Amino acid sequence: MRHIVILGAGFAGLSALHTLEQATLTRRKLKITLVSNSTHFLFTPLLPNVANSELSLKSITFPLKDHIDPSTELIIEQITGLDLKHNQLLTSSQPIPYDYLLLAPGSETDWKDHEHWKDLCYTCKSAEDAVLIREHIEHTFAKAAQLPKNERQSLLTFAFAGAGPTGVELLAEIYAGLARDVFSKASPDLVQQTRFLLIDPQDQILTNLPTELQKFAHDHLSNTPGISILTNTSVTERTEHEITLSSGETILCDHLFWCAGVKPSSLLQNSNLELDASGRVMTDSTLQALGCENVFVAGDCAAPPEAPAPNAQAAKQQGPVAAQNIIAALSGRAPKTFSFQHLGDMLTLGRGRAAIKVMGVPLQGRVAYAMYRAAYASLMPGAMNKMHILTEWFEHDLATARIMSLPNLPMANLPTTEPADKDTVEE
Ligand SMILES: Cc1cc2nc3c(=O)[nH]c(=O)nc-3n(C[C@H](O)[C@H](O)[C@H](O)COP(=O)(O)OP(=O)(O)OC[C@H]3O[C@@H](n4cnc5c(N)ncnc54)[C@H](O)[C@@H]3O)c2cc1C
Repeated sequence: MRHIVILGAGFAGLSALHTLEQATLTRRKLKITLVSNSTHFLFTPLLPNVANSELSLKSITFPLKDHIDPSTELIIEQITGLDLKHNQLLTSSQPIPYDYLLLAPGSETDWKDHEHWKDLCYTCKSAEDAVLIREHIEHTFAKAAQLPKNERQSLLTFAFAGAGPTGVELLAEIYAGLARDVFSKASPDLVQQTRFLLIDPQDQILTNLPTELQKFAHDHLSNTPGISILTNTSVTERTEHEITLSSGETILCDHLFWCAGVKPSSLLQNSNLELDASGRVMTDSTLQALGCENVFVAGDCAAPPEAPAPNAQAAKQQGPVAAQNIIAALSGRAPKTFSFQHLGDMLTLGRGRAAIKVMGVPLQGRVAYAMYRAAYASLMPGAMNKMHILTEWFEHDLATARIMSLPNLPMANLPTTEPADKDTVEE
């Protein structure tokens, strides 16, 4: 019996698994093992919605064991290395042998030259990150409300390094949650002191997205009180309560969200696989790793010729092709060539605002938002997960679900030194 091991249970790994499982129903001569360091699948595009408490983790994660065929072996293990010479994955205990490997471990935060900032920044890459951000924001406002005005500027300054989709959506969703559930209850001077900074070294935001989406996001954010967009700027220094910008300016800031990019899994380093300049595994057009007949690669860490930018769409399309080509190799058939089908772009800015471009047609506003939600609910695997997410959105719209909860805020004791300025708070 031939043993196929899939490393990674994200968009690429899971879609590959489902293709292989369907194939094994007719060809029972395969053993399939799925290896992941997490027990759950995570729908990353909706992490910002968890960070602002619009959705619970339950809506964007599901246990792997519920979505795999009983004949598939599931191993929850941190893979520590790839031993391609002996066809095995290394762990802290027993190695995992394979005949064919489908490599899909995704990517990790790229700290560039700032690895030492890790403990001074927030990231939004995992379920834990999103929950940490949510709790942190709630604590911040509870704490700020107890401090005198002149001592809380750093606590109320939120900087986002990186104006790609993650930075923009995270900022917009956090702001939307605060505007709705915190600003309306907080004292006006606390609201006026709250600053959001979107910082990017490029001359515009969302450079990977169509210009219509860039413009919509830029106009919306720059017209929102409290939000500043700083392009052609990077963060050069970080201390616990300050950031320094490339302009030389130092800003009091307790919260730096590092959204400045991802890089392929560090597992690939020292693996003897051929990597491109960004660290992705170079493959041929069939997703077979160059020089390794029994290794196929999919998702964020694959670099086929004319590689698309790493994203969930590409990962979901590559997984099945890599799986089919393993079956083809086993049965002596000709492999399929991967070609990326760009299905469109979507961007949400919270509270009913989205911009999308599908089949070349740009749309924004409520209709775009409804389409955005419909698309993400349909992409979510499993009927129960679709139900969960739609129910939570429905509750959220009806305002029966509280977004940010601020228990026992001592608002009544606060000196409200400045008059309420309704223009600073979006309703
Ligand atoms: C906040 C955020 C928002 C995003 N929004 C969008 C969006 O709107 N649209 C879009 O197209 N893309 C989006 N992306 C990008 C998208 O999430 C990735 O491109 C996609 O997840 C890549 O799929 P993958 O299968 O390659 O990797 P992943 O989905 O990251 O899966 C990797 C898997 O490998 C496992 N793994 C990793 N290392 C090991 C190890 N050493 N041992 C064992 N298991 C391991 C992980 O646990 C995981 O199961 C977003 C990403 C983030 C973080």
